[in-house]
Amino acid sequence: MRNLGYVVIGVLIAFAVAVARPETLDTILQSRFLGESALPRYSDGTEKQNRMPEPQDLVKLFPNIVVRQWTPAVPSVAITFDDGPDNTYTPKILDILARYGVRATFFLIGQAAEKHPEVVARIVNEGHAIGNHTYFHTNLSRMAAWQVLLDLRKAQAVFTRLVGQAPAVVRPPYGALDPPAVEAIGQEGFKVVLWTIDSLDWWGLSKEQVIKNVVPALKSGVIVLHHSSGGPGEDLTGTLEALPEIIRTLKDQGYRFVTVPEVLDEIERQRKAPKKPAPAPAPAPAPSPAPAPGSPAPPPTPSPVQAPASPPPLAPSPGPGPTPAGPPS
Ligand SMILES: [Zn+2]
Repeated sequence: MRNLGYVVIGVLIAFAVAVARPETLDTILQSRFLGESALPRYSDGTEKQNRMPEPQDLVKLFPNIVVRQWTPAVPSVAITFDDGPDNTYTPKILDILARYGVRATFFLIGQAAEKHPEVVARIVNEGHAIGNHTYFHTNLSRMAAWQVLLDLRKAQAVFTRLVGQAPAVVRPPYGALDPPAVEAIGQEGFKVVLWTIDSLDWWGLSKEQVIKNVVPALKSGVIVLHHSSGGPGEDLTGTLEALPEIIRTLKDQGYRFVTVPEVLDEIERQRKAPKKPAPAPAPAPAPSPAPAPGSPAPPPTPSPVQAPASPPPLAPSPGPGPTPAGPPS
């Protein structure tokens, strides 16, 4: 009887420690003994509550795995949507993309895909790409590497079952990743694709606010983050209303719309392309390269977006809400 008392006290102490120190709880949850049953505990809720500032520049640490933007040969952008599918916003977004003949990339949650298989099929049938946004919308930075892979593989199995394809690209929920997770994801053969411009639509912004967050920062090679589904109470009407105008702006300026797999293909081609020989050292700086009078003007360079003194490409747009936009998703 006394032994039982000790056990109970021990359990209570362990529980108190776990509650007081979330990292201790994570350690317990990371036990392999718990297997898949611990995964849902890493789902941190809505973007609003859990956006985290990126602690390290993961692109710099893992340039062959993590992508945030690229350098296209012709002016191009990639539009992406996280957190779908649902049957509220995702079909309407698909309608808009179809109306304008634009292809995009949907980073899908495995669990949501299981609930809306017909929407997943529609996404793929209409020529869009899909990416893996985990099965449980989990915070990968809190998980052991084996758990990260367990979750991603669970989502891959759903996508394969539903549409016969398993995406090769992952976007972490909340933008939350740490180096061990990136390493594990990279070894599994995935690329991690973040974003250049965050529309911040997950704040339930108005059309005008979404446009203001996106349009001034547009330029060739950006990856734009929107959402195609929200958590409870999250309203994406602003996205639905802003999207046609964002698309028209880009079309007017001659942009091509590409999917994330196409972005990765182009990056890969550029990596494999033979390097241009280094230019011979310039003899002396030419005094003044003013064109001779009467000579034809140089061809205009394709710079469709005159981003007005836009912030450096990697800086997230200023957030409308209490916290400046951290890495989201
Ligand atoms: Zn997400």
